[in-house]
Amino acid sequence: MRKTNGIELHSFYCMNCGNKAYDLARPISHRYSKHHRKRLYCPWCKMTVNCIECRNDAEVYEFKEAFSEGAYKEELQECLDYINNSMELIKG
Ligand SMILES: [Zn+2]
Repeated sequence: MRKTNGIELHSFYCMNCGNKAYDLARPISHRYSKHHRKRLYCPWCKMTVNCIECRNDAEVYEFKEAFSEGAYKEELQECLDYINNSMELIKG
């Protein structure tokens, strides 16, 4: 990953399609645990889903391995249920 002036570029990978949804500049001092989750809009799925933060190539590799093994399916379903429920609430 590139490093400039205390900023690191982290990638967020979509739990639904496994593609990279976002690159986000993060201060290096700002430490989360590995594979931090964040709900982001995925441009591939065209919806908001849980994305997984990868801070370096090794974490991207781990994510892709886990994704191909279906490691995120349950978590994704919970996330999609939550999103569907909140959409129904908005519709009334
Ligand atoms: Zn996606």
